[in-house]
Amino acid sequence: MDQEIIIALTKGRILKETLPLLAAAGIEPAEDISQSRKLIFETNQPDVRLLVIRGSDVPTYVQHGAADMGVSGKDMLLEAGGADLYEPLDLNISKCRLMTAAMVDRALPKGRIRIATKFTNIAKQYCAQRGIQADIIKLYGAMELAPIMDLADMIVDIVDTGNTLRANGMEPRDLIADISSRLVVNRAAMKRKNQRIKQLIESLRQAVEAAK
Ligand code: AMP
Repeated sequence: MDQEIIIALTKGRILKETLPLLAAAGIEPAEDISQSRKLIFETNQPDVRLLVIRGSDVPTYVQHGAADMGVSGKDMLLEAGGADLYEPLDLNISKCRLMTAAMVDRALPKGRIRIATKFTNIAKQYCAQRGIQADIIKLYGAMELAPIMDLADMIVDIVDTGNTLRANGMEPRDLIADISSRLVVNRAAMKRKNQRIKQLIESLRQAVEAAK
């Protein structure tokens, strides 16, 4: 189907909060995504299919047009940096903050500092903007462990309640960005399938407003 719309989603917390918005916009998966190992799902709309992929892959799928639209955390979009995407709607879900954090009451070293993070591009940009000299250390999880084990002086990570930081003797320092999930759209698809995509954006916009 030429006018088919493919929407890229992520499993977990974001999916849970996205499905009600999609449902309010008239799109419901034909089966329970959380109970399935499939990656592609039909919906009640004959022209809409859903992909379920890793959050960090959503900007890539949408930028290359392998998906027409997607739901992506702003953190993933900032990290993807150059991805040339249309970002028409803040879905106002999965809200958190991207922050620097360090051990409680421990001053940062005077010269070059070590920053552990999975957001290496964001960390580089943060340092460049503030003239901070840093070695960026890429980690894939449990960033809080790095300062404890003296692998790093500071981390850049997602903070929600701050409980994870506190439980590990750390404190938030600088706010880098407020994060929420965004609707992203491939630029070519936006032109080629304009009517249907505009209609979907508008339905989602109304669902977001109603949820406020
Ligand atoms: P908290 O202890 O409430 O500050 O939560 C911190 C941890 O939860 C972080 O290390 C994140 O991995 C995860 N987290 C919290 N909120 C989000 C979110 N909106 N999206 C993705 N991960 C999150």
